[in-house]
Amino acid sequence: MDLYLYNTLSLKKEKFVPLSDSHVGVYTCGPTVYNFAHLGNLRTYLFEDFLVRTLIYNNYKLKRVMNITDVGHLSGDMDMGEDKVETKAAREGRSAWDIAAYYTDAFQEDLELLNIIPPDIWCRVTDHINEQINLIKTLETKGYTYSTSDGIYFDTSKFPDYNRLSHLDLDELKEGARVEKNIEKKNPTDFAIWKFSPAGSKRQMEWSSPWGVGFPGWHLECSAMSLKYLGETFDIHCGGVDHINIHHTNEIAQSEAATGKKYVNYWLHGAFLNIIGGKKMAKSDDNFLTLDKALTKKGINPLAYRFAALQVHYRKPMEYSEASLLQAEKGLAALVLQVVGLGETIGKVDEVFRSDFQAAINEDLNMPQALAVLFKMLKSDLADSDKLAGVKNFDQVLGLSLIIQAKDLSIELEEESLPERIQFLIEKRRVARDEKNWSLADSLRVEINEAGYLVEDNSDGQIIKKK
Ligand code: AMP
Ligand code: ZN
Repeated sequence: MDLYLYNTLSLKKEKFVPLSDSHVGVYTCGPTVYNFAHLGNLRTYLFEDFLVRTLIYNNYKLKRVMNITDVGHLSGDMDMGEDKVETKAAREGRSAWDIAAYYTDAFQEDLELLNIIPPDIWCRVTDHINEQINLIKTLETKGYTYSTSDGIYFDTSKFPDYNRLSHLDLDELKEGARVEKNIEKKNPTDFAIWKFSPAGSKRQMEWSSPWGVGFPGWHLECSAMSLKYLGETFDIHCGGVDHINIHHTNEIAQSEAATGKKYVNYWLHGAFLNIIGGKKMAKSDDNFLTLDKALTKKGINPLAYRFAALQVHYRKPMEYSEASLLQAEKGLAALVLQVVGLGETIGKVDEVFRSDFQAAINEDLNMPQALAVLFKMLKSDLADSDKLAGVKNFDQVLGLSLIIQAKDLSIELEEESLPERIQFLIEKRRVARDEKNWSLADSLRVEINEAGYLVEDNSDGQIIKKK
C-alpha cells in the first residue's frame, strides 16, 4: 500500500518513495539539553515516533539519527544572546558538561516512558566539532562565508532559493531576521556558522579553529551530523513547525551549498502544543509543563499523554488542559479494560480492519482515524481472539503497550466484575506502583477501602476483595 506524507517543501501530500531499497534515512532535530523537555517538545517527538512506526509497519528498514544540542544554541535565534547550556550551568553552579549530561538522561527517560523508539544513532554536538570545522572550510573554499568581529557567517544572498522551505518571500524572511540586529551582517538572514568566544572571557565549552577560539553555530550541527551519518542526500528530516523558517532553511542552505546536491527529499513538521488561548508551550514561559510534573507525579499513566497526542492529527495544533489529560487517562484505562475483556488467546488479524488501519496511517499519519478503526474493530462481531490479534497488530504503531497493560491489570482484577469506578482506581494504583509512587498508591488504597473493597499486594500485582 502506498504511503503519503505531507512535504513542507511542496506543501502537498506526496507518495513516499525512498532513495534506496536498503534503508530509509531519517533525521530528527533533537533537544537542547539545558532543561527538561516540556509536553510541547514531547508532542513533536511523539509525532516523529508515529512516523517511524508507520514506516516500520510498511516494512521499511530505517537508519535514524537524532542530535543532542549540548553547545551553541543561543538564547536568540539570530546568533545573539547567551549559550543556553552555559547560562544554566552558571546559574546552577555546575559544569556545562554536567548540565548537558543530566538533561540528556532526563530526556531519554521521557522518551522511554512515552514508548518512543530511540534513534539508531544519538549524536552530541560536542563530539562532532571536527566535522563542523571541516564543513565550514568547504563553505569557505566555495565562497559562501565571511568574517565579522563575532564570528564566521554564511552569506545567504549567495544561495539561490534560500526561501524554498519557508515559502516566504525574501522581504518577509528579512523582516523576521531583523528582530535582533547585528550591523556587521551583510544580509539580515545571514547566520553564524562559527562564533568566537567573547574577548576576555573563557567559555567552558570552546575549541580552537582556523578562525579563532569559539564554538559552532547552532544550525551547522544538524548539517554536519546528518551528512556524516546519512549521506549528502537523505529521505526524511523532521521537527516542529518553528524550525521551518530559520533552522531548517539554514540547514538546507549550508548543506546544499557545500555538496551541490539536494539535501533532503521529504520535510515533515509537527504543529504545536498550545495552552488554552492558543499560546505555544515554551521553555522560557511559566506555562512550561514536564511529563513528570503534569503526569507521573500525579500518578497519571504517561501513556495517557501519548493517547491524547494520537487523537489530534500531527499537523493540527493541540490544546493542552488538565481536563483533557484526565479525559485521555480515563479513555486509555477504558481501552485497557476492553482489552482485558478479550481474554488471552490471540487469533488472526482481520484483513479488512488491518487494511483500513494501514490506509489511515498511510494517509499522512492519520492517527485519529487509525484509532477510529481500532474502536470499530473492538465493537464488531469478530471473535475476541481475532480482536486481540488486531489490537496487538495495531499497537505496533499506536505504541500504547495495550497487551502488556491489559495483562498487568487482569492479574489485579477479581473474577467477578468490579464496578467501573473501582476498576479505574485499581488501574491508577497499578500505574502508581509501577512508578514507585508509594504515597499515591497508599492514598488510592484508602479510597478503594472506603468504597467497600480490600486491596492486597503480592508479587504478581494487586488482589481485590469485597469487604
Ligand atoms: P528545542 O529543545 O527547543 O530545540 O525543541 C525541541 C523540539 O520541540 C523541536 O523540534 C521544536 O520544534 C519542538 N517544539 C518546541 N515547542 C513546541 C511546542 N509548544 N509544541 C510542539 N513542539 C514544540
Ligand atoms: Zn536541526
